[in-house]
Amino acid sequence: MNSRVSGSVVAANSSAAVAASRPGSFPWPFLILIGLAGAASFGWWQGRLAHLASVASSVPVGMAVSAAASSTPLVLVLPQPSAQLPLLDDSALQPLRATPPPPPPPVIRHYRIQPGDTLEKIFLHFNIPLADLHDVLQADEAYLVLDVIQPDSELSFEFDPDGVVFQSLSLQPKVNQTVTYQRSEQGFVYSEVVIPTQWNQHVVRADISHSLYGTILETGLSDRDAMEITHLLGNKVNFQRDLRPGDTFDAVVSDEYMGDQATGERRLDAIKLNVRGTDYVAILFEDGNYYDEQGNSLTPALLRYPTSKHYRVSSPFDPKRFHPVTHRFAPHNGVDFATPSGTAVLATGDGVVTRVANHPYAGLYVVIDNDGPFSTRFLHLGKVLVHKGQRIKRGQKIALSGNSGRTTGPHLHYELHINNRPVNPLTAKIPTLVSVAAKDRGSFDELVGQYMPQLARQDVSDPLNPPGLLDHRG
Ligand SMILES: [Zn+2]
Repeated sequence: MNSRVSGSVVAANSSAAVAASRPGSFPWPFLILIGLAGAASFGWWQGRLAHLASVASSVPVGMAVSAAASSTPLVLVLPQPSAQLPLLDDSALQPLRATPPPPPPPVIRHYRIQPGDTLEKIFLHFNIPLADLHDVLQADEAYLVLDVIQPDSELSFEFDPDGVVFQSLSLQPKVNQTVTYQRSEQGFVYSEVVIPTQWNQHVVRADISHSLYGTILETGLSDRDAMEITHLLGNKVNFQRDLRPGDTFDAVVSDEYMGDQATGERRLDAIKLNVRGTDYVAILFEDGNYYDEQGNSLTPALLRYPTSKHYRVSSPFDPKRFHPVTHRFAPHNGVDFATPSGTAVLATGDGVVTRVANHPYAGLYVVIDNDGPFSTRFLHLGKVLVHKGQRIKRGQKIALSGNSGRTTGPHLHYELHINNRPVNPLTAKIPTLVSVAAKDRGSFDELVGQYMPQLARQDVSDPLNPPGLLDHRG
C-alpha cells in the first residue's frame, strides 16, 4: 500500500512540475495533503488525484497568481469516498508469480573473411548444409549483397541454443547498414537495417602543377571522384592540351557520416576548374544531374533501353512479385526483356564497370556505376565483353544476353538504381534534359549563388570563405 501511495505522489509531483512552470506555486499544498492522506483508500485517491492534477494544470494563470499572493492557507475540502467508487480489495490481487527463466540464448559465431574464402568454404567450416547456403543465395538474388563481401569483413552466424541448427546470417556491407538472412518457414528471408546518416560538406582546393587527375588525387579525393570530374568537364576542356601551371581546381564535396564515422560515400556538390582565366563549373542539382552555372546539363543522358531494338517485357519491375520458379514473394528489382541468347547488351549511360560476377541465381552479371546518382545491373548474361574498372560510354556493347543462373528461359534482366535504390527503369525520371527546367530555374540560381563564393579563391579574411574551410587533406 505504501509504495503505491508514494507512486501516486510521484505522479502528482510531475503534474506539479507542469503547474510550477506557471507564475506562482499553486500545487504545493496538494502534495502536503497527499502525504497526510496516505492511509486513505488508494483507488478513490487515484481518481481524485487525476482530477486535481487536471484542475491544477488547467488553472488560469490569473487564479494561480491570486492564490499564491494570498496569505490565507489553502484549505481543501475532501468529499467522503462514495459507495459507487469501489474500494481496493486486497484479496482480489493475484499472488506474484516467479518470473519464468529466460529462454536459452542463441549461439552466435563470428567469422572474419580471409583472402581466397568462398561462402561455400565458410558454410562447410561451420557444418552448415549447403542447401541452406543456396537458400540464402536465393534470398540474395534481388539484392546481390553477398557477392561484394571483402576480405576482413565479418559475418555473424546465429544457431539455435544447441549450436546445431543454422538460423541466420548477418553482415554489414556499409557501416550504417546491417543485412540479415533469417530462416523462415519459406526459406531464408532478406531484411536490412539502415541507420540514418548526415552529410558533412567541406571545400577542397589545389593548384594544378602536373595532370588534373593527379592534382585531384592530391586533395584527398578518390580515383572514382577524379574520373567523374574529368568526365563531367572533359567535353569543355582538353586536359592534355589546355592546362597550364597556375590553373586551379576547387570543389565543394560532402562525405556521409554516421555519427563521427565516415561511411565511405561521397558526393561532389560543386566543381570549378579555372583554365587560363576561364571558369568551368559543374553544380549538382536536386534532380541528380550536373549543370554548368548557366543551367546547361553536363550529365550525359541515359538510354531508356539496354538494347538497340525493343524486346517484349516478359516480367515487369515489381517490388512485390510472386516468383514464377520459387513460388515465393520476392521483389523483382528490374525488368525482364525477352531477348534471344546472344543479343547485344548496351550500356545505358556513361560510367565505370564496378562488378563482373557469377551468381547461382542471377547468373553472369555486370554492375555499372553511372555518372551522377545512377547505377545499372545486367543479369543472366551469356558473355561479358568488359572488365571491372573499365570506363564505358553510353550505347557501348558490354555483353551478350543469355540464359545463365536460374531462369525460365533466355532473357535480359535490367536494373536501374538511383542513389542505391532500385527503380522501374521504364518509368523512372532519367536525365534527358539539356538544361534546368524553367520551373526549377529559381532554386537552381539560388544554389549557384550559394556555391560560387565557396569555389572562389578569395582573401582569407573573407567571412564567406574562412581559412577553416581550406582542406587539402594531402
Ligand atoms: Zn528478372
